[in-house]
Amino acid sequence: MLKVENLSKTFTGNDGRELTVLHEVSFEIGAGETFAIVGPSGSGKTTLLGLCAGLDQASSGAVYLNGIQLDPLSEDERAAVRNEHVGFIFQNFQLLPTLTALENVMIPLELQGDPDALSQATELLRRVELNDRLDHYPSQLSGGEQQRVAMARAFANRPKILFADEPTGNLDEDTGQLVEDLLFQLNEEANTTLVLVTHDLDLAAKTQRMLRLKGGKVVI
Ligand code: ATP
Repeated sequence: MLKVENLSKTFTGNDGRELTVLHEVSFEIGAGETFAIVGPSGSGKTTLLGLCAGLDQASSGAVYLNGIQLDPLSEDERAAVRNEHVGFIFQNFQLLPTLTALENVMIPLELQGDPDALSQATELLRRVELNDRLDHYPSQLSGGEQQRVAMARAFANRPKILFADEPTGNLDEDTGQLVEDLLFQLNEEANTTLVLVTHDLDLAAKTQRMLRLKGGKVVI
């Protein structure tokens, strides 16, 4: 499902200095697996997740998503692969502020030309227990509610692989548990491959496999 080969990423800072934040990272994840990426703050977890999901391009190495090599693709081509195969839950949600909860969840469905976008999005929001918040804008939602809208949006295109960056970070215990349960339910019901970045070692321990990063390198 996901194959990462010798992936490295170097950023160039405003002062022109280069900073390599990922060094030759390799791993493979099978279809339907649950997988956690853990490591200290700044170890490269979010960067790695973004490269795996085709949100950004590596400096060297290769990413294969469902057999498609992402690296040679243009930004538009990678976006098309993401729309078809990938769900992504961002650390800071990234909901569109001018759209309601319902409209945010409808976006991926409308992009796929789904004629039932409205009823599907309503059902997804019911599933994350937000049926009474459909017309609220992100600024009118709590952090935990925004996180659940982001989840409903990430589930909408029935992704084969779901990437989630700190999905339970900053949530209270009950909301964190709800989010966690929904993620694992999706994995069980739809065999969606789950790739989580987390600081929560209890959550990581519930996944089938774990990759530990330190200073941008895989540690065993
Ligand atoms: P955290 O657990 O705190 O979210 P992380 O392990 O997810 O951290 P990343 O966000 O991947 O870490 O960042 C890894 C390193 O890359 C950090 O030192 C960060 O400052 C640097 N970095 C990330 N994005 C950029 C960028 N666009 N330009 C320059 N440096 C960046």
